[in-house]
Amino acid sequence: MNVPLLDLKLQYATLQSEIEPMMLNIAASQVMILGPEVKKLEETLADYCDCRHAIAVSSGTDALLMALMALDIQPGDEVIVPTYSFFATAGVVARLNAVPIFVDAEPITLNISPEGIRKAITSRTKAIIPVHLYGQSADLDAIMAIAAEHNIPVIEDAAQSIGVQYSDGRKVGSIGAIGCYSFYPTKNLGAFGDAGLVTTNDDTLGTKLRLMRDHGMNPRYYHKFVGGNFRMDALQGGVLNIKFPHLEQWHEQRRKNAELYISLFKEHGLSSGEGVLEFDAENRVLLPKAVYKESGVKNYHIYNQFIIRVEKRDELREFLKEKNIGAEIYYPIPFHRQECFAHLQCRDEDYPVANKAAATTLALPVFPELTKEQIIYVVEMIKEFVHGS
Ligand SMILES: *Cc1c(COP(=O)(O)O)cnc(C)c1O
Repeated sequence: MNVPLLDLKLQYATLQSEIEPMMLNIAASQVMILGPEVKKLEETLADYCDCRHAIAVSSGTDALLMALMALDIQPGDEVIVPTYSFFATAGVVARLNAVPIFVDAEPITLNISPEGIRKAITSRTKAIIPVHLYGQSADLDAIMAIAAEHNIPVIEDAAQSIGVQYSDGRKVGSIGAIGCYSFYPTKNLGAFGDAGLVTTNDDTLGTKLRLMRDHGMNPRYYHKFVGGNFRMDALQGGVLNIKFPHLEQWHEQRRKNAELYISLFKEHGLSSGEGVLEFDAENRVLLPKAVYKESGVKNYHIYNQFIIRVEKRDELREFLKEKNIGAEIYYPIPFHRQECFAHLQCRDEDYPVANKAAATTLALPVFPELTKEQIIYVVEMIKEFVHGS
């Protein structure tokens, strides 16, 4: 059996009859950038994300960059980010010649540690960027409380977590000053190329972000501040409008897949439970824990990634590859160990949780179209690995 980590062709097959005529319409209209499809998408997503302003942009990375620019982050300003995330979260800070300050992860969710944030705040801290990693919310109450104490704006990196709810039902991305989302094809809502979204409930920031997307221009050829070309293509808007009505069902199917994995791992004695943090002598795998599951909110987790932790991670990955099962490492190198940040002289021992995660995390296939048989096969192969090694 073949089980890819992600198979986008399956999803496309179900939507092809809608997507192809839309693409021909755009070709005929020759409206290539922004336009009615993008406007419709912004209205849909403002509503879905519970934000007054939703501005469609060129990528998730650009959404983060614009957020920092809109908050006037200057060279030398410090911006607190998790050390364990996709590179963009820290890269955008460095691109503005600001200083990314790395904070370790919480052991269970691998989201940024609020206590770590507290310790990292200085008089130079100008923003905090928590990431809602893998598809569940960071500890927003704690983070927002610390940020409010020091009057520091929070930018939510919700690239992996569109539609995710915090334990009180609020949507992530609507709680901090600015929310940033990505429609990179591997995200739960994926475009036909690069695309992203930036959201806010603040009217001043909303106006500024909208102008910033188009070189800070208003009226045409008059520039009050420097923005960029952060515009979304019409084609991306069209594809996302067609995909959006299916998003909740895709989230649900990913949750079902994750639940099936968890119950099978337990059934086979391959795990000692969700959220257990220590490896045992029997080589059992550590399962992810949806920490807000008991809160009763629907999107307590959308499983952009289903992450297990295994002691012999690299061997398991190789083993699965031989069995035609796709598995990936998100992420093998935390920011504090990246060559491009060597000049920041971070102390490796300050990041025990992220370091351990980098050595042990493995993403298994969890995409919505995955079949029950495929999931059973993956678990059986992991069982073979655990018992055979
Ligand atoms: C995907 C991702 C981004 C960047 O989004 P792009 O659309 O690829 O630029 C930023 N942060 C996180 C956490 C991501 O997963």
